[in-house]
This record gives sequence, structure tokens and C-alpha cells, in this order.
Amino acid sequence: MTQVIDFRSDTVTKPTAAMRKAMSSADVGDDVYGDDPTVNQLEAVAAERLGQEAGLFVSSGTQGNLLAILTHCQRGEEYIAGMRSHAYLEEAGGGAVLASVQPQPIENQADGTLDLEAVEAAIKPDDFHLAITRLLCLENTFFGTPLAPDYIKAAKALADKHSLRFHLDGARLFNAAVRLGVSASDIAGSFDSVSACLSKGLGAPVGSILAGDKAFIARARRWRKMLGGGTRQAGILAAAGLHALDHHVDRLEEDHMRAERLAAALSDIDGISVHPCPMRTNMVFISMDPSRQKGLAAFMRDQGILMTVEDGPIRIVTHLDISDPDISKTVEAFKRYFDIRQAA
Ligand SMILES: *Cc1c(COP(=O)(O)O)cnc(C)c1O
Repeated sequence: MTQVIDFRSDTVTKPTAAMRKAMSSADVGDDVYGDDPTVNQLEAVAAERLGQEAGLFVSSGTQGNLLAILTHCQRGEEYIAGMRSHAYLEEAGGGAVLASVQPQPIENQADGTLDLEAVEAAIKPDDFHLAITRLLCLENTFFGTPLAPDYIKAAKALADKHSLRFHLDGARLFNAAVRLGVSASDIAGSFDSVSACLSKGLGAPVGSILAGDKAFIARARRWRKMLGGGTRQAGILAAAGLHALDHHVDRLEEDHMRAERLAAALSDIDGISVHPCPMRTNMVFISMDPSRQKGLAAFMRDQGILMTVEDGPIRIVTHLDISDPDISKTVEAFKRYFDIRQAA
């Protein structure tokens, strides 16, 4: 089997041998009865790492964000989120459809932040014509860039001022923490709730953690059951999450370094424009002339390199299954591609 180099996402990681071993030897029970010791341990450990009282093992980041909306908001209320944020754009409208909660999107600025004046202007006054604004959602990292701690502080002050609940879509929160050199709890502890993916750069096959205070998690657990998310011997999967939290957080640094190395090398190639990123984690965005972009994915696929190439910027994501030689091989492939195109 030839090893493909897969830059499409950090969700493509496969469980390591050590992770599979932890999974196969996990102590399990029926989690709907609260009997699965490995799930219970994961929920406790993850909550502590996130600076929250309690945790809930959920099937995906999408489920975590939906549970947060369902739990914080009532039918007819609304949540504010970035127009390009996952919780607004890429969760199939679940907040509106399943929670009956109206999204109020706000344009994301280039660094992923929501202009706080725009957020404040979107908060509805108490008027029965209007939905009740209940929740402010941020995303961290946003397109690979961590939110600045001062920005989070200011956003929290705004949420407090208007009695909004404050949720973090921290799908890649651990990337942000490692990049900023702070603990995950330093970032997540100031939110009322946070969801964090175990199945992206952390390398677990399935699952996210939703964390918050005990009362919030108790209510979220009921919604999770309603959504069909109550699972039984889920300790097999939770063991992978625990293994990821213990062994795959610090190493995210390697993914960030490889992304930076790739960005630097690609920016030396004539015809590629690497989007500047002063606080890079594990993503590189590049642009090129559309005529060059056209054959790129097929060319790369022939070299055993996978990347998603659509219209617009190309996103390249580093992760657990991308090595230093993979980066070198990819840079060489890009050079060849642009040489051929130059000659043509
Ligand atoms: C991937 C992702 C999610 C959703 O996670 P899934 O496990 O794929 O449902 C949510 N938010 C962001 C920012 C993500 O990147």
C-alpha cells in the first residue's frame, strides 16, 4: 500500500498503533446508565483541561455546537456567529432547523474576529417584534489563526454587558493553545461552554467534548439523548480521546512548524501566492492564477498527494500523519508543476 500524503484536512488522521491498543484494552460499560468508566474519565479529564466543571463526550463538533445552541437558547431566541464560522455556515442550519434558534451572522474580519461594535449593534433591544439575542459564539482557531486573548476578553465583557451566554467553537482549540504557549483552560475557561474536537489534529477516530458548568452539561445530556446521541460501550472511543489528550497535544507544535516550513518554501515558487499569516497553526492558504489551479489536484493526485482544489484559495492542512519528508516531497511536486506550466 503506498502511503498517500493527505492535506485535505486534519480529520483524515488514522488512529496510531498505541491509540488502537488503548482502545482495545479500554474498560467499558453502558454510558447511557453512566456506567462507562472510560467515558467518565474522558469527560472529567477534558473538562479539567478546558477549565470547565463538567464535560460531555459527543459524536462530533457539529453535535457539540448544536447542543450548546439547544442548551443555551430557547425556541425563538437567537445566536450571533461569524458569517464564515462553522457554527453558522457549515452545520446544515442545525441551530435554525433543530433548535428553532435564529442565527444572526456577523461578517468575519480577516483575522476571524467579529467586530465587537457590529456585534453590539446586532444585539436586539427588548421589543416583541424581534428575536431575543441570547448567545454569542466565537471560533478558535479560525481558518488556522488563534484568536488573540485580549480579543476574547473584550468579547466576554460585551457578552456580560448584555447578559449573553458565551460559547466557543474550539474545534481546534488545542492548536490555538499550543501556538500561543498557554493552557487550553486559559482560553476556554472564560466561556460558558466550549466544544473541542478530538478527531482533528488530536488524531482520535471519533468524537468531541462539550464542556461547561454542571447544570449546563446535565441539560445538554438530555438534548444529546433526544438527538440519538446516547451511546453504550463508548469507552472504546473515549479511550482514543484520552490517549489523544495525553499524547497528541504537545506534538501539535510539529504540525505548526511543518505548515510554516511549507508556507516558506511555497512562497519561493513563482506563481504561488501564500496568504500571509503572522500566527500560523496547521494551515496554509495559497492562491494562484485560475488557469494554473485547474490541473493542480489531478497532478498532485498522480504523485500521491491529496488536496482539495476548488475555486478560490487552496487550503493545505498539516497533521499527525504528515511528516517532514512529506513536506519536502510536496514542495518538490509544486516546483515540478510550476516548471511544467512555465515551459508550456
Ligand atoms: C470541524 C469543525 C467543526 C465540526 O466538527 P465535526 O466533528 O466535523 O462535526 C466545528 N467547528 C469547526 C471550526 C470545525 O473546523
